[in-house]
Amino acid sequence: MSIEAEIARRLDGVQARITGAAARAGRDPDDVCLVAISKTQPDQRIAAALTAGHRVFGENRVQEAWAHWANRRTVIDDLELHLVGPLQTNKVRDAVALFDVIQTLDRPRLAVKLAKEFDRAGRQLRCFIQVNTGEEPQKAGVLPVGADDLIAECRRLELPVEGLMCIPPADEPAPPHFALLGEIASRNGLAGLSMGMSADFESAAELGASHVRVGTGVFGPREV
Ligand SMILES: *Cc1c(COP(=O)(O)O)cnc(C)c1O
Repeated sequence: MSIEAEIARRLDGVQARITGAAARAGRDPDDVCLVAISKTQPDQRIAAALTAGHRVFGENRVQEAWAHWANRRTVIDDLELHLVGPLQTNKVRDAVALFDVIQTLDRPRLAVKLAKEFDRAGRQLRCFIQVNTGEEPQKAGVLPVGADDLIAECRRLELPVEGLMCIPPADEPAPPHFALLGEIASRNGLAGLSMGMSADFESAAELGASHVRVGTGVFGPREV
């Protein structure tokens, strides 16, 4: 099978599973956006996803994202790029110049930097606040207990906060983390929930995800 055909088939398969999960939960499948995570993927596979008509992609490193997407941005006007990896404050300018959505806003200092850069660049990016639902020391994200305060601070800075994002611990069932994220979002009046990866995006879609982030499920195993 050609790479084009393989990626098109994978995209259809993931989309069909999202539709099935949404139906089980009585949700409209159009309310679940598939963010195809293209980190470390060969260019040919990314090109194949574009050929198949997919337009929403995620990357976890600013520099790699530039390599994958900077040129394509200039020729494809309906691309939507999400940053799903940690953002250092010294990369904020590059990130704001490339992405449409920052999913990893997780501390006040970064919120202040982003607000300043949005002003300077005259460009507002949609924001998701990352919550470390598993309270893992090595993982990014605000702790659940600090989430309400960070959301309030971001709103005070007039950042367009659309929702919350989480990456559950690899060795735990994900659904309780999805449920916790949903609770924090709902008590703060946030509609967006970015949750679910290749292994668990169906349960995320059933539990209210607005965005699922699927890498290997769309592109096949990552290189490196
Ligand atoms: C890599 C990555 C994904 C996709 O992971 P898969 O298991 O390949 O679907 C999703 N979210 C984040 C934050 C990632 O870094």
